[in-house]
Amino acid sequence: MTESSYHGHCLCGALAYEVAGPLENVCFCHCESCRRASGAPFVAWGTCPAERFEMTLGELARFHSSPPVTRGFCRRCGTSVTYVHEARPGELDIAIATFDDPGDIKPEFHIWLDDKLAWVEISDDLPQYAQWRSP
Ligand SMILES: [Zn+2]
Ligand SMILES: [Zn+2]
Repeated sequence: MTESSYHGHCLCGALAYEVAGPLENVCFCHCESCRRASGAPFVAWGTCPAERFEMTLGELARFHSSPPVTRGFCRRCGTSVTYVHEARPGELDIAIATFDDPGDIKPEFHIWLDDKLAWVEISDDLPQYAQWRSP
C-alpha cells in the first residue's frame, strides 16, 4: 500500500484522476447503498485525504445517496468513483476498481456484513465487520 500515486478512470474515459498514496482502510463494502450505486454485489474502497485526490480529466457528478453521504460518478457512463461521508470531513473514499491498475492494491477487510447478499461467499481470511470497522 505504499505506491506513491495511483491513476484511475471511468468506464467511458470522460473522467480521469490521480491520487497520491498511500491509501488507508482498503476494504470491501457490502452495504446496500454501495451495491445499488455500483450495480455490483460489493464494492472495494480505499480512503485518502481529500487534498491528495485530483481530477485530471472531467468533473465528477454528485449524488446524495443518504443525507450525510455524497457519491461521485461519471455523468456520461455512470461509473461510481468516490464516496464522501460528513462524519469524515476531509477524507475521500475511492472505488479502487476504477484504478488504471486495480490489481496493485488489495482490500484488507470486509464491512457491512449485515447487508451482505446470502449468495456472496467470502472465501478469504480477512476480518469482517457487521457495519463500520470499530475504531
Ligand atoms: Zn465515464
Ligand atoms: Zn458501502
